[in-house]
Amino acid sequence: MAADEVRRHNLGTVLERLHLAGPLSRSSLTKTTGLNRSTIADLLAELTVNGLVEERPGAPGSGPGRPSPVVQVRPHRASALAVELAVDSIAVATVGLGGHAYNLVRVARPRGRFSPEETVQDVAKLAGPLLDSLPAEHRLVGVGVAVVGITRRSDGFVHLAPNLGWRDVPLASMLASELDLGAPVLAANEADLGALAEHRRGRQPGVANLVYISGEVGIGAGVIVDGKPLLGSAGYAGEAGHTLVNPDGSVCRCGAVGCWETEAGEGALLRRAGVPEGTGRLDEVAERAAAGDEPTLRAIEEVGRWLGLGIGNLINLFNPDLVVLGGLYQRLFTFLEPSVLEGARHQALQAPHQTVTIGCSGLGPDASLVGAAELVMSRVIADPANFDGPSVRGRASAQRSVR
Ligand SMILES: [Zn+2]
Repeated sequence: MAADEVRRHNLGTVLERLHLAGPLSRSSLTKTTGLNRSTIADLLAELTVNGLVEERPGAPGSGPGRPSPVVQVRPHRASALAVELAVDSIAVATVGLGGHAYNLVRVARPRGRFSPEETVQDVAKLAGPLLDSLPAEHRLVGVGVAVVGITRRSDGFVHLAPNLGWRDVPLASMLASELDLGAPVLAANEADLGALAEHRRGRQPGVANLVYISGEVGIGAGVIVDGKPLLGSAGYAGEAGHTLVNPDGSVCRCGAVGCWETEAGEGALLRRAGVPEGTGRLDEVAERAAAGDEPTLRAIEEVGRWLGLGIGNLINLFNPDLVVLGGLYQRLFTFLEPSVLEGARHQALQAPHQTVTIGCSGLGPDASLVGAAELVMSRVIADPANFDGPSVRGRASAQRSVR
């Protein structure tokens, strides 16, 4: 590596440490990064000049000598707008470096209102007040969007979102022009971003090999291999919901027959539980399950077995340390757990099964939204010396006020 590459890498390492761990003493930063004291001092000086970190005197400890200064990120210097486009809801949050969410709104929406044009307008309406409420010194480094669809990473182009009824939607560029913030818009698949969030801030931060399975109306999977997201050639990897599990199954919204999500997705659960499809129907299933309703519990058990079978396949493919269930599976995990574990044990080979833990997301319903913010922060961490963003109260705010 060339010297400036090494330096960029080290700046990113230090910033990422502080972004994920919170305030750290200089000495523990030295220990955890493996860099020497003078290098750390040098890197911190540059990050301080960029305004990304600040130092304060450490509290006096029991040991001899001066206490090590404490370093922390300056959250407002790099803020992100995070957006999640789910089937039943839209969520928007403002998040600072370090991961603190200033504000978060999630609104339910009827399944009929799905056109991309209306959706980007809805996002802009939700985002406006959130951005306006941030003090003017906040710099917006980007907009991260998690979407339930097959999304090209390079330009945020949604090829297919069967459960939104979208095909070939240039989502990132539509949002960029609707929001008009002067900051880049990055869009990616919601399960991929759920995986990123779990990897960075979930139940086992930093876990090297992780599969995140998101249950929305469909099923998506995000995969982390050796600490890095598995994206595939264009970012389409992880469409596990559309792998064949039952050749005698029903027709999927993608056009194929017997996809995993036709057996273990929300539709299958509602059908088996005898609940009509629609917004809010899962609440009914959850309530009945909590009340011990036998037919509902049997329906959940059946879906859990199919879910476990697919998880077993993923365990065989990726040999993960951790499989995390999000979305509706996180919500119903207590009821699903026994049959999911049994299904996975049945399908997975013994060796990879022995080392895997299967659990539900520690981030709750906002995993993908957290991941959308992390996607933006990744850009800052990749090159802390060369980033900047407009003020959150920039031109869009001026325009919003005259609309
Ligand atoms: Zn399918």
